[in-house]
Amino acid sequence: MSKIVVIGSGINGLSAAALLAKKGKSVTVLESATEFGGAVRTEEVTLPGFKHDLFATNLSLFAGGGVMAALKDDLIRNGLEFVPSAKPYCSVFPDGKSIGIVMDRDANIATLTRVAPGDVESWKSLTAKLGALAPHLFPILGTELPSFAAAKSLYKTWRAIGTQGLFDLIRLLLQSSRAFTDEHFVHPETKALAAIWGMHLDYGPDISGGALFSFLESIGGQEFGMVLGKGGADNLIKALVAVIKENGGTLVSGAKVTEILTNNGKAIGVKTADGKVYEATKIIANVNPALIPNLLPKNEAEKPEVAKIKNFRPGLGTMMIHLALSDLPDWKASEARGFNYVHIAPYVDDLAMTYTVAAAGKLPTNPALVIGQPTVSDPSRAPEGKHVLWIQVRVLPLEITGTTWDQVGEEYADQIIENIEQYAPGFKEKILSRKVLTPTDLERYNANLIKGDSLGGSHHPAQFFFLRPLPGWTGHKSPIENLFICGSGTWPGGGVGGGSGLMVANLLSK
Ligand SMILES: Cc1cc2nc3c(=O)[nH]c(=O)nc-3n(C[C@H](O)[C@H](O)[C@H](O)COP(=O)(O)OP(=O)(O)OC[C@H]3O[C@@H](n4cnc5c(N)ncnc54)[C@H](O)[C@@H]3O)c2cc1C
Repeated sequence: MSKIVVIGSGINGLSAAALLAKKGKSVTVLESATEFGGAVRTEEVTLPGFKHDLFATNLSLFAGGGVMAALKDDLIRNGLEFVPSAKPYCSVFPDGKSIGIVMDRDANIATLTRVAPGDVESWKSLTAKLGALAPHLFPILGTELPSFAAAKSLYKTWRAIGTQGLFDLIRLLLQSSRAFTDEHFVHPETKALAAIWGMHLDYGPDISGGALFSFLESIGGQEFGMVLGKGGADNLIKALVAVIKENGGTLVSGAKVTEILTNNGKAIGVKTADGKVYEATKIIANVNPALIPNLLPKNEAEKPEVAKIKNFRPGLGTMMIHLALSDLPDWKASEARGFNYVHIAPYVDDLAMTYTVAAAGKLPTNPALVIGQPTVSDPSRAPEGKHVLWIQVRVLPLEITGTTWDQVGEEYADQIIENIEQYAPGFKEKILSRKVLTPTDLERYNANLIKGDSLGGSHHPAQFFFLRPLPGWTGHKSPIENLFICGSGTWPGGGVGGGSGLMVANLLSK
């Protein structure tokens, strides 16, 4: 009987394991950390009763994805509960203006008419455009690349939208956020509202490829809202773990894989730090591809087709600040209080400066902030009347010139808090406790987050779509026979979606 070992319990490793266990395969998941879930983890890191999503919080990708479709009943039976938000995101500006996007097209038109009247018609036409392109764009995210299925899907798209339409779509895929927002909007606020979504990945406004995310996420928020896990994002992890167990799978935490064992160029098992050997007919590594050579015997790691993975580049870094609050911030833009995410970017040129400064190894003065207010839709995450705040700082240097994150992390967090105070006077007084996770801390929690890159490798076009992570490593296969890869370093990239777990499970189910 085939024995499958999964290295790592991130969303993709767990998704693959759950799907394969349900198909009757023998599955063992080995996780080096004390908890399962990788970059999806909820803990009371400030005060008792305050539940913080340490890393990812927005579970929309999973809720709308293929793993959910395949395992919905099993996951719900095992406790999965989502909390939807109809007020997904809002951008606030230094002059007190704001634009909040809700799941109501008319309400958004009313907001834009008030704040950015010149962009109303463009917003309407982009809404129509997403409606027209969605049936072609979203299936690509669930399709193996490159593959015959993808070629068929492209052909169907061409039949539906014609040559001109296809070229327009390719242009959108290659455009930067700045080019996209300049083309569609006139008001700096609307441009920033969309461009910040590129920075959730590693698209500074002038990087080719950012337009797609600025478009999909800004208009997509209006159409689909946002989804959180009830009581914490780990609600999803607990349900996946339970599905694996109820189908006979095994999970071991505190089991760091130190070696992938090979014989004649084929993977045959793994060894953990405590010297235990797990034999396997197939191995799925939910491991950042750049780290795979470290796990292979020297003769395999040095093969040119393996060694070239060193050219897989990380994206820029991220820092998290978790706050326990006596009350939500009193935003100068008072409507911001009701939104799940509040973005402080503030404008497109600021995003560009931040990106360039961070890439040059310096600390940005006004980095982009994604401020999650999960207790707005899920009060169960904090004691009654109290709140948690999830602050993601984007983007930051992987290494800071002349110092380290351990040295400057707390001080830099103070600066971020001061920045927020400018948008919400009195904010500092509401802070009951805080926990700062610098880019270095992120890597300590999860080796895949190399130097604090939250996305398992840059998503710039040279490492995305059918090129992720690198030619020769695509299709979720590594150059080593029987060693498969999934996770954010593989197609379809970062995010709590489980897409690559599903694709690798499909490969191994055959
Ligand atoms: C701060 C932050 C905020 C984010 N916010 C969001 C968000 O709101 N929404 C969203 O969609 N995405 C978000 N993301 C991105 C998303 O969380 C990740 O892309 C995704 O969770 C990565 O999943 P993965 O399958 O690649 O595995 P990972 O989460 O990287 O997990 C892999 C696991 O493998 C383990 N492992 C690695 N090597 C070994 C080894 N040798 N032996 C044993 N175990 C090993 C690691 O310990 C880890 O637990 C965020 C990421 C971060 C860091």
